[in-house]
Amino acid sequence: MTNPDMIYETIILGSGPAGLTAAIYAARSRCCPLLIHGIQPGGQLTTTTAVDNFPGFPEGVDGPDLMDKMRRQAERFGTQFIQGEVTRIDFKERPFRLWMGDEIYRCLSLIIATGASPKLLDLGNEEALYGRGVSVCATCDGFFYRDREVIVVGGGDTAMEEAVFLTRFASKVTVVHRRNSLRATPVLAERALTNKAISFKWDSVVTEILADASGVTGIRMKNIRTAEESEIPCDGVFIAIGHQPNTELFAGQLEMDDDGYLLTRNGTETNIPGVFAAGDVQDNQFRQAVTAAGTGCMAAIQAERFLDDLPYDPNLSCQKGVCRTKV
Ligand code: NAP
Repeated sequence: MTNPDMIYETIILGSGPAGLTAAIYAARSRCCPLLIHGIQPGGQLTTTTAVDNFPGFPEGVDGPDLMDKMRRQAERFGTQFIQGEVTRIDFKERPFRLWMGDEIYRCLSLIIATGASPKLLDLGNEEALYGRGVSVCATCDGFFYRDREVIVVGGGDTAMEEAVFLTRFASKVTVVHRRNSLRATPVLAERALTNKAISFKWDSVVTEILADASGVTGIRMKNIRTAEESEIPCDGVFIAIGHQPNTELFAGQLEMDDDGYLLTRNGTETNIPGVFAAGDVQDNQFRQAVTAAGTGCMAAIQAERFLDDLPYDPNLSCQKGVCRTKV
């Protein structure tokens, strides 16, 4: 049960590289952060195996392992973690108020690091078929498709990475892409295009995922140049068509671009003083673990400077001994 008198200096929403880096910095600066995360802590990196481009790991690092290390580092400096879903936020006055079920949490500064979620094709049955042939994460589910035939939808880096990864298990991998050239960076595109186990259906969109009671049986697709329709039998459909920022909670209160990404200025400031945004929730361009971590660091430093200018309050979480560095 939360202490209704207590005010957190900083609450952080999200536990990916942005949220956890913000937590490490905020806790070390005595901002006594509370980090709120969902059911699957760790963000998108927990659905990745080898992360080869995070500095400091010359041999690469396992995604979940990297997130676990970041979490332990944040804990060491006194970050409090709770799991739950924030369903409402009021930014009209400070302390800001956040509702989780019946509980209200109050804070003077908020760092939003809620990330982004995989986009779906909006075909009606995708979510119902999760776990029965539809997946948004080859590294999580690829293992279940040993000697099976799979489709990967998309032409970006994620789709190419997933297609290559799936050739370890599947007997056949077909990429369905809506254009006749890939968006993926040359190195990943080349890796997929030269992989003999992968075939490509260009200029094609999936119009239906076919399924029976046991799960996915195939897809129906349409060539957008010729309007020709065809079906491909398959056991799995991996959707890799990009991401959507998790910003619904802030609609009407924080400024966003047309795609729903939070708009930031001067680093990580949003349009509300004391509210900062870091990581994929505000980054439509780079979306890397290291850039997310970088903006998480910036958000914590900016939150600290913001707090420095506020009057002393005896109800602050650090005054109440919430923040304890483990030595
Ligand atoms: P992305 O770059 O936005 O690519 C999405 C792909 O899906 C595009 O090919 C797009 O087609 C297609 N698409 C989008 N909506 C679609 C729809 N409704 N129906 C059919 N196709 C659709 O997303 P991403 O591949 O997830 O990559 C996101 C970011 O993460 C990028 O910056 C990427 O570089 C980075 N990333 C890096 C690595 C790495 O370095 N190892 C790995 C994964 C991701 P169009 O091409 O026609 O737009």
